[in-house]
Amino acid sequence: MTDLIERLRAIVSDKGLILDEDGKHPYLTDWRETYLGKALAIVRPATTEEVAAVVKLCAAEKVAIVPQGGNTGMMGGGTPHEDGHEIVLSLNRMNRILDIDTIGYTMTVEAGVILKTIQETAAQHDRLFPLSLGAEGSCTIGGNLSTNAGGVQVLHYGNARQLVLGIEVVTPQGEVWNGLRALKKDNTGYDLRDLYLGAEGTLGIITKAVLKLWPKPKDVATAWIAVPSPEAAVELLSGAHAASEDNVTSCELMARQGIDFVLDHVPGSTDPLQEKYDWYVLLEWSSTRARRPGANETGLAEKMEAYLGEAMEKGLVLDAALAQNESQARAFWAIRENHSEGQKREGPSIKHDISVSVSRIADFMAEGLAAMKKALPDCRPVVFGHVGDGNLHFNCQSPPGWNKTQFMAYHHAISGAVYDLVVGHGGSISAEHGIGRLKVEDLAHYRSKVEIDTMRTIKRALDPQNLMNPGKILQV
Ligand SMILES: Cc1cc2nc3c(=O)[nH]c(=O)nc-3n(C[C@H](O)[C@H](O)[C@H](O)COP(=O)(O)OP(=O)(O)OC[C@H]3O[C@@H](n4cnc5c(N)ncnc54)[C@H](O)[C@@H]3O)c2cc1C
Repeated sequence: MTDLIERLRAIVSDKGLILDEDGKHPYLTDWRETYLGKALAIVRPATTEEVAAVVKLCAAEKVAIVPQGGNTGMMGGGTPHEDGHEIVLSLNRMNRILDIDTIGYTMTVEAGVILKTIQETAAQHDRLFPLSLGAEGSCTIGGNLSTNAGGVQVLHYGNARQLVLGIEVVTPQGEVWNGLRALKKDNTGYDLRDLYLGAEGTLGIITKAVLKLWPKPKDVATAWIAVPSPEAAVELLSGAHAASEDNVTSCELMARQGIDFVLDHVPGSTDPLQEKYDWYVLLEWSSTRARRPGANETGLAEKMEAYLGEAMEKGLVLDAALAQNESQARAFWAIRENHSEGQKREGPSIKHDISVSVSRIADFMAEGLAAMKKALPDCRPVVFGHVGDGNLHFNCQSPPGWNKTQFMAYHHAISGAVYDLVVGHGGSISAEHGIGRLKVEDLAHYRSKVEIDTMRTIKRALDPQNLMNPGKILQV
């Protein structure tokens, strides 16, 4: 073992190696603190060549590798196992923006760049990188691509898979595949890029990416809206596409319970409306068409106000607040984005990141809430999410005062009931968070034999020694 550590040190130097237990700790547990693993070392290479050399050494020594970005994943995919035989390979020193091409609308980055840095760099060049999620201040683009992250603008721009043109990957053998092509069209055989996206580090390590950029929006309207029901939210969204001239960029649904947790636990949060309602929508429209000062033209805010007025007459809206400036819009967004934090501080929860088609949301929701209550009558459902994508965080908070062990005894009953319904509605048991470690059994149960067998065949072919993030997504 000393020999392995010294050979790792020779590749990444002291700066790239963490061996003391205090230093290792943040890399050994996940954001939700569901898992606490052990690792031989935390290895932090600074270049692709160093990543490749580390992987080659580990392949020769049969040491498994857990790739890690910002460690904000919800499924335990970036956390090592408890046996302590793995290394964690963190990309957090590979954090350089390599190129920005404003003519070709692309940005080339290393895998460890924080998502927010990418957004800010794009904005400085009057461009937009549209991936946006609550963890954007700490998650990395490598993690985003490896989980095929979603977030709050998928409805308009697509998920991470749709936001990338090319990637560079270090294979489980330590070879470097340079797929950093800034091409929109490239039909040259099997799509290797798509294989690695969403693979959660089980097939190789993403080290660089060429990202797509968009024009920066110049006119944005944001509203916090109380609606009578999830059905009304879906109908409101359906009409909004045409009313906004196809400029809906976000549509988030929230139940009151989650908002209360944010107001209770996240300092500085305030309720945008005076009355309390059961359901809310955060709606955002964005356009690249700038409003000319003094020109007599209707901007998105006026169009949205008119649309919400009509929707109120139809009974789809109960009350609404239109953001008057950017800081008010940010305050609305903070309530939505702090939902996971509010839930974490409230206590134990069982999370379901599910999707069904948008038109099935209302039916699923009614049946799902009933199923959760049947499994545990005192549980507190916390439903929120990207309703415009049919993706809900259909979560369940423990009854007040319960400890984790007591609550987790109901995990299988609650999740089983929810997932059976999701699958019955033609939906997915993981919309955007991936499988990681937490849903390995669920994936095997709910996906067909032919799908699982094909995934296993791919995994065995690319990683025959099963050293790349073993035990995540699949048992091979
Ligand atoms: C408050 C909060 C809000 C969130 N909101 C959303 C949301 O709206 N939408 C959403 O999709 N997710 C959301 N997430 C989940 C999480 O932020 C995403 O999954 C994110 O993409 C993970 O990025 P990361 O850099 O933290 O990856 P990590 O957590 O470090 O890793 C995630 C997985 O990817 C692998 N991996 C990481 N980097 C690489 C690499 N370079 N090469 C190969 N494999 C790699 C890891 O092994 C692991 O399996 C949220 C999380 C939090 C805490």
